[in-house]
Amino acid sequence: MDKQFDFVIVGGGIVGVSTAWQLQQAYPNKSIALLEKETQLAQHQTGHNSGVIHAGIYYQPGSLKAKFCKQGLLKTIAFCQQKKLPYKQIGKLLVATNALELQRMLALEERAAELGIEVELLDKQQLLAREPNVNGIGALFVKDTGIVDYVALCQSMADEFEQLGGSIIYQSPVTAMRESKDNITLDTNTESIEASYVICCGGLMADRLAKMLGLGKDFQIVPYRGEYYRLDDPSLTFNHLVYPIPDPELPFLGVHITPMVDGTITVGPNAVQGWKREGYGRCNFSVQDTAELLRFPGFWKVASKHWMQGATEFKNSLFKSEYTKLVQKYCDQITPSKLSTYPAGIRAQAVKSDGTLVHDFLFEASRRSLHVCNAPSPAATSAMPIGEYIVQQVTEKYSTL
Ligand SMILES: Cc1cc2nc3c(=O)[nH]c(=O)nc-3n(C[C@H](O)[C@H](O)[C@H](O)COP(=O)(O)OP(=O)(O)OC[C@H]3O[C@@H](n4cnc5c(N)ncnc54)[C@H](O)[C@@H]3O)c2cc1C
Repeated sequence: MDKQFDFVIVGGGIVGVSTAWQLQQAYPNKSIALLEKETQLAQHQTGHNSGVIHAGIYYQPGSLKAKFCKQGLLKTIAFCQQKKLPYKQIGKLLVATNALELQRMLALEERAAELGIEVELLDKQQLLAREPNVNGIGALFVKDTGIVDYVALCQSMADEFEQLGGSIIYQSPVTAMRESKDNITLDTNTESIEASYVICCGGLMADRLAKMLGLGKDFQIVPYRGEYYRLDDPSLTFNHLVYPIPDPELPFLGVHITPMVDGTITVGPNAVQGWKREGYGRCNFSVQDTAELLRFPGFWKVASKHWMQGATEFKNSLFKSEYTKLVQKYCDQITPSKLSTYPAGIRAQAVKSDGTLVHDFLFEASRRSLHVCNAPSPAATSAMPIGEYIVQQVTEKYSTL
């Protein structure tokens, strides 16, 4: 055996790093390693997202998403203040542009009340007063929503983890795992590592890691590309994040206007079927990923249920003028010529074999392992409470081993 640790965390995105950092605090005398297949942390979802600290108004009361997102906002801001990381609580406007959206907006207002999240209902004039470049028939203002640099946040937690004695091993893709009565052996491309307990936070690869230990039988990760544009018109400014009213059936929030902490304004993301899990280029395609997707019954069930939506997303992705219409609904001053390309992100969405999109965070466990199987948005906002929850789960299990 090349190396031995008490705990190994697989995956150096924000969920894995938050878990490693909090586990090392809980177990200062245990040896803990984080394995990451890339040369740096946060190279996938954590480094390709909108950078929004969500307040949590979308999520089903009682769900893990609702609970962790609300706690996550407070913890993220407290951490940023402590570490002097850039963040701003600029608030978010959810803009209704027709009668159906107005009805959905009022349902969101009720939900916010149920969740104890402060919102303000605005009429057309009040919306214009807050955001002169945005048109709508009404809006919901969520004042607590913020923006942050998740890569910086992730790196800062990783630095703390290493200062506490934790090890980060880069370029270490886990290719196989074997669980025995006494430990788990992890094979990477260069070595074999033994751990008493393993926690997998593999994002777009979560299902493959779970399957290595005989778990993850009923779901598969389906990649949905989120394509962005950068707004290149310095005269067009926004005081807040500006979002459409989402379709409650779908886990995506719609194309929004996002002022980022570095001053960039992005427009996006859409939600297009991806054909390569970690392929960010528009034409990226993986034979293995696509074959796996086409063999998965859940994919066909989602595709047949949402084929109209899928076709529209594809058209909007192909034609910039169509994409622009999504944002022109509430900001008609944005034209295709004002938008330039910006790196896409790819969402890891767990789908069950029966075609159900898993809305909440999902975990599975074997005797000596715990897997984060579904951690889409708002998992960046929620990364600290997710890590705390994992440490609690591990502590309960570890003491009985
Ligand atoms: C377009 C888009 C916009 C989003 N916007 C927001 C937002 O504004 N706010 C918000 O809260 N959330 C947002 N999210 C969601 C958020 O980014 C993710 O939920 C979060 O980053 C998930 O973190 P993670 O650590 O689980 O996954 P990741 O960041 O994907 O990290 C997984 C890591 O595991 C590593 N890995 C995988 N397999 C292996 C292996 N076999 N061996 C070793 N390492 C491995 C990968 O290399 C990667 O580094 C967005 C996501 C996308 C895609």
